[in-house]
Amino acid sequence: MVAAAGRFADLIQRHLDDIDSERVRGAITRCLAQKQNLIEEETVALFFPARSGNHFAAFIDSPAILSEIDRHLLQVFCSNIAVCAENTRLLSRLHDQAYLDRLVKLPTRTAFIEAIDQHLATGTTSGYTVGLIDIDQFSETNEAFGHGYGDAVLRGIAHRLDEALGESCRIARIAGDTFGILGLSWAVRPEKLRPLFTIPLLIDDDVRHQLSVSMGFAHLGDVQSGNDAVKNAYLAVKLARTQGPGHDAVYTEEIGQETRARTHLLHSLHAAFEHERLFVAYQPQIDLETRKPLGFEALMRWRDEKGEFIPPDRFIPLAEQSGLINGMGRWVLRSALRTLRRIHDAGWSDLRMAINVSVVQFQSGDFVGDVALAIGESGLPALVELEITESVAMTSAADVEAKLHALKALGVTIAIDDFGTGFSSLSYLDRLPIDRLKIDRSFVNNIGNGAEGARIAEMIIGLGHKLDLTIIAEGVENEEQLLLLSGLGCHEAQGFLFAKPLAADTLGQWLHDNS
Ligand code: C2E
Ligand code: CA
Ligand code: CA
Repeated sequence: MVAAAGRFADLIQRHLDDIDSERVRGAITRCLAQKQNLIEEETVALFFPARSGNHFAAFIDSPAILSEIDRHLLQVFCSNIAVCAENTRLLSRLHDQAYLDRLVKLPTRTAFIEAIDQHLATGTTSGYTVGLIDIDQFSETNEAFGHGYGDAVLRGIAHRLDEALGESCRIARIAGDTFGILGLSWAVRPEKLRPLFTIPLLIDDDVRHQLSVSMGFAHLGDVQSGNDAVKNAYLAVKLARTQGPGHDAVYTEEIGQETRARTHLLHSLHAAFEHERLFVAYQPQIDLETRKPLGFEALMRWRDEKGEFIPPDRFIPLAEQSGLINGMGRWVLRSALRTLRRIHDAGWSDLRMAINVSVVQFQSGDFVGDVALAIGESGLPALVELEITESVAMTSAADVEAKLHALKALGVTIAIDDFGTGFSSLSYLDRLPIDRLKIDRSFVNNIGNGAEGARIAEMIIGLGHKLDLTIIAEGVENEEQLLLLSGLGCHEAQGFLFAKPLAADTLGQWLHDNS
C-alpha cells in the first residue's frame, strides 16, 4: 500500500494481508482481480488501469450508495488518473536516464553537479573536495582491445570506487573516461585514491589490466557552483597531465588566473588573425664568405589593439594548442612567398625565404599540399627553406621521412632549427634529407664567454662538415662571435649584428644598401 488516510493511515508501506478487515481486503483484491470498479453498499473500490501492467486500486469507505451519474464520473476520473500515473512513470524513467549512467550504474555529470550544488547550498563547504579521476590513454585502450573491453574497464573502476568510497562520498561518471568524487577532503586526495588503482583490474575474469589515472582536485571552499567545481578540478587534471600520465594536481587561484589569461589571449589572437592584425617581419641571412645576403627568415609578429607587441614565444604555443597554427602557418607561407616574389621581381632573384614550421602544422592535414600550392601561387622557382625543429624530425619516423622527401621533390630545402637544444638522438640526421643545421642562439650567445662557450658551436660545425650539411648560426650579435664562427668554418649567419627582423616594405631599401 502506497497511500492511505484516516483510520487506514498506519497501513502505508504494508502488505494487503495486513489489513485486518475482511471486507476491505476482499474488496481491493476482487477489484484488482476483475480489473474494474467495484461499487457496492458501503464499499467503493476503484480500479486504475495502466498500460505498463502496474495497475492499482483505491478503496473508499463510503457510507452511501452512489448514483448512476457519480459512478460515471468516477469511471472518467479513474481513467484520467491512470494516464497521469503512466506519464509520471515515463518522466521518472527520463529522469533516471539523465541522472543515472546505465553502463556503470553511477550518477551522471548532471546528477553530480546537482549534488555539489545541493551541498554548496547547505553552507558547509570547507573541508570538502571534488576530485576527478581521468583514465590515461583510454581511447588507445578502446582502440586496441575493443569497446567491450573499454566498457569492462569503466565498470571495474566504478565498482572499485563504489566499494571503497560509496558509503562516505558521492561518486559519478561525469564523462566518457572521467569519474567524479565529492567528499571530505581527507578522503578525496591522491594519497587515499592512488592505492585504489595499484592493483590491476580483472577484466572478463582473466585479463589483468594495469590502470594509469590522472587526478585533479578542487576544494569546495573556492567555488560558487557545482559547475565551477567540476571545471576547476578538470583544469587541475589538465595541469597534472602536462607532467605526463599518472600525476595529480590541486586547483589554485593562480591556475585559474593563468587559464583565464591564456583563454583571453587566445581569443584576442583569433580576432587578430581574423582582422589581419598579424604581420610578418623578415630577418636577413648572410653568407659569411662573401658577406652578402642569402635570403630572409620570416618571423610572425602580433601587435594587439593597444599597439603592444606580443612575442611569438608567447602566442605560438597557444596557437599550436588550439590548432589555430594551421591557418596561421598557411598564411605566413603565402605572405612570405609573396614578399619573396616582390624581391625577385626587383632583381634579387637568387635570394631564398626561410619559413618556420611548427610540429602541429607539419603533422596535420595536407602540409605538403599546402606548400606546393603556395609555391605554385607565387610562381617562384622553389627558393623556399622550411625550418623544422628536432621534435618534428623525431616524430613517427616513416611519416616524417615521406613528407620531407615529398617536400624535397618540390625543390624545398630543409633546416633543423634550434639545433642542439632538443636532447634527441642524432640518428635522424643520417636518415632524413636535411640541408642545413641552425645553431641555436643560446650556443652562439656563449661564444663570447671564452673558449669554453664556443665548444658546442664548434662541435655542431664539425658535425655539419662531416655530414655535408650547411651550418647557419642564429643570434649573432657582435664581431667577436662572428669572427669565432667564421674561424670554426660556419657558413652562414643571422642576427642583430647584420639586421633586426625588418618590415616587408623596407626590404628593398635594405638590400639596396647591403648587397
Ligand atoms: P626562432 O625560429 O629561433 O627565431 C629566431 C628568433 O631569434 C626570432 O625571435 C628573432 O627575432 C630572434 N633573433 C634574431 N637575431 C637575434 C639576435 O641577434 N639576438 C637575439 N637576442 N635574438 C635574435 P622571434 O621573432 O621572437 O621568434 C621567436 C620564435 O617564435 C622563433 O624562434 C620561432 O620558433 C617562433 N616563430 C616565429 N615566427 C614563426 C612562424 O611564422 N611560425 C612558427 N611556427 N614559429 C614562429
Ligand atoms: Ca627559426
Ligand atoms: Ca632558435
